Amino acid sequence: MTVRTLYAQHVVLGEGETLRVGPATLGLESGKIVSVTEGPREGAVDDDLGSLLVAPAFINAHTHLAMVGFRGLVGNASLRGNVVEDLFFRLESKMSAQDVRAFSRLGALESLRHGVARVWDHYYFAESIAAGFCDVGLRAVVAPTLQDLGGPGVAQLDAQLEATETLTAARWSERGIHAALGPHATDTVSAALWKRICAVAGRLDLPVHAHVAQSVEEYERISERHDASPMQWLEHLGVLAQAPHLLAVHAIFVTSRDLLRLDPRRHTLGYCPLSQLQFCFPAHVPSWQEAGIPWIVGTDCAMSNDAMNVQRELVHVAGIRGFGPTSSAAFAQFRREPSLDAARRVDAERTAALDALGVLAEPATLLASVWSAPGRMHPAFTAGVIAAGAEADLLVLDPKHPCLWPGTDLLRALAYCDTSSALHGLMIGGAWRIGLGQVDAWLQRDEHREATAEAEARLEALAG
Ligand SMILES: [Zn+2]
Repeated sequence: MTVRTLYAQHVVLGEGETLRVGPATLGLESGKIVSVTEGPREGAVDDDLGSLLVAPAFINAHTHLAMVGFRGLVGNASLRGNVVEDLFFRLESKMSAQDVRAFSRLGALESLRHGVARVWDHYYFAESIAAGFCDVGLRAVVAPTLQDLGGPGVAQLDAQLEATETLTAARWSERGIHAALGPHATDTVSAALWKRICAVAGRLDLPVHAHVAQSVEEYERISERHDASPMQWLEHLGVLAQAPHLLAVHAIFVTSRDLLRLDPRRHTLGYCPLSQLQFCFPAHVPSWQEAGIPWIVGTDCAMSNDAMNVQRELVHVAGIRGFGPTSSAAFAQFRREPSLDAARRVDAERTAALDALGVLAEPATLLASVWSAPGRMHPAFTAGVIAAGAEADLLVLDPKHPCLWPGTDLLRALAYCDTSSALHGLMIGGAWRIGLGQVDAWLQRDEHREATAEAEARLEALAG
């Protein structure tokens, strides 16, 4: 393979505190970035993208894309109870492998349209999920959902465990599909199954991706059965120490002591802001940040969060700063007995929150949760960063588009704007999945229309 070179005046380089935008020439070979040379172009290159903005493509690190078929089904009444058990489990028990493949194609198309090149998906009929993603070219870490104590996956347990191993085969990794172990949650998986999962994860060097402490029912069950918090129980079972990497998503009923059980080198927490806002109980990200535990942002499913666009989520992470002042005792006092002093006390709350939680509003913090943090959770690849050795997943945006104009601070725009209408091209694993300037033509492809028609027919049959 020969090295192909690509130059642009605006390339997002570095990560964390070194995140910056500048001119650079990238060397691409066998689907990876093999060199990054900063500075103006010297000599000829294969692709000169001029003033276009080149950034790492986004990673949606917690989702269930096949659930796009159920978009719009969750209303306030169903959110009052345990929607996962009362509604999702019932619908999911009716879906077939073919339904899952058809719906996951649509979820994958939506993801690509929003500049997402990779997802961490967790679902039933995992091989159909992977096949649906491959149909449209989305890359993924697929965790076949494993459960033996409750939920629609109980009957599929052996097949899903087998699928986990199958998904590690070269025929999948060649198409950008990798596996993770997917225990559903602490209350739907027995101690014996958790131990089996850890053994497989250790043997195959795979991460474990699970929902942990996501509902009061889960907390109640673990507390009654084991006299422990969900995270404490995972520690007791040896999961925290043995899993090569654990992605624990939602982590709502997590205590200060639970955070001390976690190791930033092998544990990552997952936050899905819009999903949790709908459930009316966002997780406590400031304490995660303070404890130094890495965290990622995902969209969760379309049923509880109506778009697979990670940028919409980031804005809500930045908004965490505002939760405190509005619900503070000082503001309650001001509303009861308004006075200039009371107003000043509220403003003191506001400025304190602004200072204490400013890091959550920094573009580098926000973007790390959909770039470098999830891009380093799987031992098989590095993504979410433009650096030698990383996957060549490149998002190309037009900085002259009205939604980015005048492009004064492009990192801020990437974190705070919805740049999907400025999408100009998307490279995944070194190949243009959406060609430069071809977004509309790509969307109108016959195969995409056919995919939509099939999904619609299947949804109609399911609704019947
Ligand atoms: Zn989920």
